[in-house]
Amino acid sequence: MATERNRLDKVSLPNLGRRFGSGLKNSHFGPNAPVPVPQRGGGSRALNTPEEANSSESRIALHAENAGLSHYSDANSAFADPSKESRDNSVTEIDFAELKDGTLVELVEDPKDAGQACLAVWKDSEVQFVDRLEQDGQVFVPLSRKNEVLRHLRLPSAVTPYESVPALLRGLESLIAQCVAVDEKYVPILADFVLNSWLVDRLEVAPYLSVVGLPQSGKTTLLRVLSLVCRRPLLIADVTSASFYYACARFMPTMLIDEAGVRNGRTLRHMLRSGTTQDVLAVRKNRIFHCYGAKVISWLEPPDDAALNSRCVLIPMFESKSTALCRTDEPKMQQLTAELQAQLLTFRLENYKTVKPAAVAGDEVLRPRTRDLLRALSACHAQDTQRCQGLLKFFESGEAVPLEPLSPEHNAVLRALFAMIHIGDFSFIFISDLADKVNRFLEQSGDRLRLLPRKVGAVLTSFGFTNRTRTNSGWVLYLSQQDAEKLHQLAACYGIDGFKDRFLSMSPEDCSLCRAAGLHKRGPDLPPAPPGYQVTTKELDLRRS
Ligand SMILES: [Zn+2]
Repeated sequence: MATERNRLDKVSLPNLGRRFGSGLKNSHFGPNAPVPVPQRGGGSRALNTPEEANSSESRIALHAENAGLSHYSDANSAFADPSKESRDNSVTEIDFAELKDGTLVELVEDPKDAGQACLAVWKDSEVQFVDRLEQDGQVFVPLSRKNEVLRHLRLPSAVTPYESVPALLRGLESLIAQCVAVDEKYVPILADFVLNSWLVDRLEVAPYLSVVGLPQSGKTTLLRVLSLVCRRPLLIADVTSASFYYACARFMPTMLIDEAGVRNGRTLRHMLRSGTTQDVLAVRKNRIFHCYGAKVISWLEPPDDAALNSRCVLIPMFESKSTALCRTDEPKMQQLTAELQAQLLTFRLENYKTVKPAAVAGDEVLRPRTRDLLRALSACHAQDTQRCQGLLKFFESGEAVPLEPLSPEHNAVLRALFAMIHIGDFSFIFISDLADKVNRFLEQSGDRLRLLPRKVGAVLTSFGFTNRTRTNSGWVLYLSQQDAEKLHQLAACYGIDGFKDRFLSMSPEDCSLCRAAGLHKRGPDLPPAPPGYQVTTKELDLRRS
């Protein structure tokens, strides 16, 4: 029979078997669907999931009480329709559930046996550890830790109170600073990431950390530290696509991936891209997977994948000679991190129903994806204005998510177009003239690249300049005032190679749009005006009268 354990003295929850709520069918299971225990012989095993121990020895099978049920934790059952299966089976394996009466049930490590899991049942700020939970004739049991993935997840084994969110964050920052040689400006981000991992299933966007550095720069140490305190951390040096999808979909772990060990980097990157937003599903081999969840990936260099990089906060690492760092395998660190995990679980249970991302004052200056990242990371401490503003500043600096440089083709077209609109009062440009200018710039800068007008047209389309007409003299691009503003924003955002060369026929100081975009501040970088250079004072205005 199942045993009852109380971890907190104040606990006064009912005996085992008490019915929570009034109906499981109306209960909400999240983030992951429960795994109904299938009939013996049902379902096939997941790829890369080795044979499990004799299921008759597992506690789950015992809890099924000779109902003819055996224990399977495989990808097929993970993706089975839970509502249908639940009707057929009375015993359901879960890793998390929100019951109708508000009770939260979370999978934890059995405090008496690290090799086993049990359920932390949280109701009205009180907690009870149980092996099974009955409700309306149905029985919930924890997923077995014999599962190949689950047995590697570090689960909390207690639920302990924490002083406050700032104190929790301070504790995390102190841990990270003690163990990892990372620039101090990244420490708050790392602490925010850990806190976020405990409620990421309640948010729309999952933050990724991209840990970049040479061998021996401490990347693995950082991953190891995070694996001690994040929710359901899964530290992996190798991942095949099938096991990756399975682990993500089933447990929503915080994946900590060492890219050096990944054999199929392209598949991994594809999966990573589909895992940052809740509503995006990945289709693979005719099956739909949910890859959503917080992730940390360590690389020797950022991947050649602008879309993925724009979803990651960059954490650069450098080799440190410091010998004062604490080792994560020291008993005191293990104890400290176990305590932090227990507090972080309390944080999760207390805030599960209320957390939501909120705008940070001033974050409209960020690009949409970066803004999403900021809001996700600040969601867990949204009340702490000072911390949120610090985070915003960091994101504004461009260091958090460095902008990918434009391709040489894009840079050349942007520069030529930018120069042409500063020549004077015109609102249209012949594409052939623009192509000539582009190629002149490329030649002057020693670049052997040359663009045909057709390619110039394609680049203009990708910039969003699409108002083009074919005339007797060739293709013409029409530019509006909004287009001129957009060009300035592009120039300010991406920078233009060679902007410091004096290639404009007027000073940015004299252009209202340059001033609005802050480009005139780059003026001091300009070389002195050549003799005879006439400073114009014309305001750029492409509005057609
Ligand atoms: Zn300008």
